[in-house]
Amino acid sequence: MSIPMDYHIHTPYCGHAYGEIIEYVEHAIAAGLKEIGFSDHLGRYYLTPSQLKKNWEWGMREELVPKYFGDVSDLQKLFDGHIRIRIGLEVDFIEGAQNTASKILDSLPFDFAICSIHCLPSLGWKHLARYTEISPATVYKEYFKAAEAAVVSDRFQSLAHLDFLWRYVDCTTNELKSIALKGIEQTVKAASKSQTALEINSNGFHHALIDPVGTELFGFFLDQISIHKPSVTIGSDAHEPKNVAWLFEDLAAILKTKGITSILGFEQKQSVVFEI
Ligand SMILES: [Zn+2]
Ligand SMILES: [Zn+2]
Repeated sequence: MSIPMDYHIHTPYCGHAYGEIIEYVEHAIAAGLKEIGFSDHLGRYYLTPSQLKKNWEWGMREELVPKYFGDVSDLQKLFDGHIRIRIGLEVDFIEGAQNTASKILDSLPFDFAICSIHCLPSLGWKHLARYTEISPATVYKEYFKAAEAAVVSDRFQSLAHLDFLWRYVDCTTNELKSIALKGIEQTVKAASKSQTALEINSNGFHHALIDPVGTELFGFFLDQISIHKPSVTIGSDAHEPKNVAWLFEDLAAILKTKGITSILGFEQKQSVVFEI
């Protein structure tokens, strides 16, 4: 195992991940990892009152957040000396809710916060895959606008799965591909000038193995990282224990060919460099 850490792991507290939290740690140790970061979905209770009325909710309910922090803290003690466990959150980037989200994030003692774009409220409160009545070009443009805004906000330690877009909204035309290539390049360039790392997600890598357009876009994403050198993190986005460190050996081999060998972890929001 040459990727020593997995910085995107869920728990059953989000309501759509499986198994016991301890099983994720046990699987990480079996996979040879030195460090993991739990990053469960923060529920969108931080939205403004008018946004909350329309919200499509997912993630940890507010009352579960202290239990999540408590459970991970217990695991840190239990596995001390065997694996380092960091605690993080995956937070949806929602335009207009930055201030309310910041207040909540400032009150929580996490090591790192990942920012994600699963929905684009300007186009409707639903999963990216469900904007079937909207032109895909509009979805692509809005997505990259949000990705760039999230990166330059410097509010988060990393931006998750840029590939989420082309995994869920088919990139079927040359027009879409050209928007995607431009958006990837701009997001990577913006990250290289910011404090925000970009996540290399093993779901995105898996999609690149099975879909020709995914191969091209994910490869271009890695090439842009090689050129512009933003900080990067690596995560499996595991929603079940067996997916911790999913495809990491194959991914490491690709990253080495691209010259991407330094990755970041975080302790109390301070970055720590790991080598692949
Ligand atoms: Zn996500
Ligand atoms: Zn996730």
